[in-house]
Amino acid sequence: MTRVRFAPSPTGYLHVGGLRTAFYNWAFARATGGTFLLRIEDTDRSRLVEGAMENLIESLRWAGIEADEGPHKGGEHGPYVQSERLAIYREHVDKLVAEGKAYPCFATPEELEEMRQKQIEAKENPRYDGRYRNLDPAEAKQRVEAGEKHVIRLKVPAGEDIVFDDVVRGTVSINTDTVDDQVLMKSDGFPTYHLAAVVDDHLMEITHVIRGEEWLSSTPKHILLNRAFGWNPPKYAHLPLIVNEQKKKLSKRDGDVSVESYRDNGFSAIGLVNFLALLGWSAGDDKEYYESLDEMAQAFTLERISKAPSVFDVAKLKHINFQHLRVMPAEELAEKLTPYFEKAGLPKPSDEKLHAVIEVMRERANVYPDYVEGCDYFYKAPDSYDEKTVKKRWKDDSPALLAAYRKRLETCHWDMETLETELKAVTEEAECGAGRLIHPVRLAVSGVGGGPGLYDLLYLVGREECLSRIDTALEKLPGQVTA
Ligand code: GLU
Repeated sequence: MTRVRFAPSPTGYLHVGGLRTAFYNWAFARATGGTFLLRIEDTDRSRLVEGAMENLIESLRWAGIEADEGPHKGGEHGPYVQSERLAIYREHVDKLVAEGKAYPCFATPEELEEMRQKQIEAKENPRYDGRYRNLDPAEAKQRVEAGEKHVIRLKVPAGEDIVFDDVVRGTVSINTDTVDDQVLMKSDGFPTYHLAAVVDDHLMEITHVIRGEEWLSSTPKHILLNRAFGWNPPKYAHLPLIVNEQKKKLSKRDGDVSVESYRDNGFSAIGLVNFLALLGWSAGDDKEYYESLDEMAQAFTLERISKAPSVFDVAKLKHINFQHLRVMPAEELAEKLTPYFEKAGLPKPSDEKLHAVIEVMRERANVYPDYVEGCDYFYKAPDSYDEKTVKKRWKDDSPALLAAYRKRLETCHWDMETLETELKAVTEEAECGAGRLIHPVRLAVSGVGGGPGLYDLLYLVGREECLSRIDTALEKLPGQVTA
């Protein structure tokens, strides 16, 4: 039975890369009939952020990724928050010390810094030099009991190749000469990430550790720790980096990296997860659109995760999200739009009108706000006119043509076909192309140069409102109507 975990540190928000990791773990559990658990790794007390855990859980829930076990769910392998497991780590580390596999180190931060400086001066790679490794255990014990400040370090063997099979990267070999005697327990009594993760992965019976590539270099430490405890390590799968367009690791400097910000900017949960899932994984075909998380989970295998870094391409994210919004039922979409009307300060129209706008906008909306402020002309008269469009499209004859069309709009039958026939009648009479009037009408009614089909626009805005907007445009835009 497979058991996997997503083990974020509560440092403020869920990173999009974290959501991808969570999704792969979840999908692997679903695909293999296993269990997916959430574990909060909060042992770095200097990086704690108030409310971060709740935020993580909420972001995962929004994305549709529910853990089978976790702090909010319970389960038989709890507690699932590391700061509630301190006694467990203590017990484990004590055992390693008693067996001579780990040892107390009394080096002060100043001492370590001095050591580092000397090594740098001597052009050596800075590393812990093992100065307390061979201290007499009895003396060490005495100093610990006397309350002297210390950390506990793992005895890492020298000059050994640690070789393991990574499901994604194949055979990986790292020599222990590049690995310091790892700190397992800090002087504040909290375990380091390495100790806590290894102990928990074992006690929580994790079979596969699926995590970001940045943890690859920690894996030999984890394998050595497992060996020290006499445990079999889990299988490892390290996910490829997510990079920006410059091929650098995606970071805060690249703008939005939090799941929340994508949610707030109007991406659907399924659109975002569908996009993230494809950053480093494909089912082996060209398929890019997945209707649901379950559909992806069914196609998911660890073996199809790629080694190569994946570029976070916002245009692609928009395109995938577009495909999801395009098929979302109008009722569902209308409900999702509510907060965006509030945010834009626009009145939410009747269901009937909103559903009609949705159908008209489906082929051009990438994110939720594209149905709201992106087409605010459906909900309110323009308060300005796009300058570029005015320059390009508003000609000397525009006022007269518009006025002639306005006259027909007063009485004509209000359907899209008639709206078009009447427009053509005006331009034929004036012996000019239809475009000569189409653009000024659009500008007058919407204030901008692009958007959905003109007759859709007019039809939905309605007769009275169209007439009034045309009047305003005739007043505000240059030129006089010369009858
Ligand atoms: N707490 C680590 C993180 O924040 C988890 C690393 C792991 O999955 O082992 O990414």
